[in-house]
Amino acid sequence: MKAHAGQAEIARVCERIESLGLQAHIIPGEQRTAIGITGNQGPMDPADFEQLPGVAEAIRVSKPYKLVSRETKPENTVVKVHGVAVGGERLVLCGGPCSVESRDQILESARAVKAGGGDLLRGGAYKPRTSPYSFQGMGEEGLRYLADAREETGLGIVTEAIDTETFELVERYADCIQIGARNMQNFSLLRRAGRSRKPVLLKRGMSSTLEEFLMAAEYILAEGNYNVILCERGVRTFADHTRNTLDLSVVPAVQSLSHLPIIVDPSHGTGKRDKVTPMAVASVAAGAAGLIVEMHPDPDRALSDGYQSLDPGQFAEMAEECRAVAELLASRRRAAVR
Ligand code: PEP
Ligand code: MN
Repeated sequence: MKAHAGQAEIARVCERIESLGLQAHIIPGEQRTAIGITGNQGPMDPADFEQLPGVAEAIRVSKPYKLVSRETKPENTVVKVHGVAVGGERLVLCGGPCSVESRDQILESARAVKAGGGDLLRGGAYKPRTSPYSFQGMGEEGLRYLADAREETGLGIVTEAIDTETFELVERYADCIQIGARNMQNFSLLRRAGRSRKPVLLKRGMSSTLEEFLMAAEYILAEGNYNVILCERGVRTFADHTRNTLDLSVVPAVQSLSHLPIIVDPSHGTGKRDKVTPMAVASVAAGAAGLIVEMHPDPDRALSDGYQSLDPGQFAEMAEECRAVAELLASRRRAAVR
């Protein structure tokens, strides 16, 4: 739509789309609203829409992922999580333990994230573990402690939903619902997330191509939830010096194909504490909109992923280095524009 298009013009375009038996998706932007069309079996005539008032142009989307594609919405999407803009000017740092382990542990973590310059708190209450005998998370009790941590520190919470059965519970407490790597192609879970009003953090599957990643996001948008943040968390390769191989080139690749923000998880992406900060800094240099990093008050005693968790001091140092790189790049770009 044109920048000045009003509600009535938007509604008229949607009516036209629906009168053809198709679905209209209103995707708001800072400058312009995009209206995606899905449900058509074959190509449509752009002229059918271009004549309607307020329409800037009608574009045929060539990609199989339609609503996430930059063709549909050229402008970057900014996703607000508890008041924090992900995909905007400022680098967003989300930190916290792999799992919520106790009320004290998550409160202490939240204070450390805040003191260390973080913007959001992470922590899983439902954990997708490789072994059924490993700690599976605290469930609703863990969600309540996350809410307590938010109450005390003001930090919004990012926490994972692992199945449709517990989705509603997670949705009630979370500010942003994480869908983990192992569930990236759990299509019923993606559809459920698409019917939620909460933003979704979608992690890349550990053996997914870029197209599969974007198609997974498309499931969420297709159900009407346009607030999706993508997250690179490393993929499986032959390399054995790390747990996963962090595929940073996916950051600019996503940015050229999609309007959705992409952040990086250097914790699961390396699986080794000493490699987290260097790869966090590299992620920022590569253009990531933010980072999600595991931080534990006492990493060696963590119930999950301690070996890849930073301690509070290391988290604060990482945050400082990342913000310095982000600021350097931003100031150079501002100067270039002038
Ligand atoms: C996590 O964030 O703790 C997690 C399990 O991540 P992933 O799904 O990327 O493995
Ligand atoms: Mn973890």
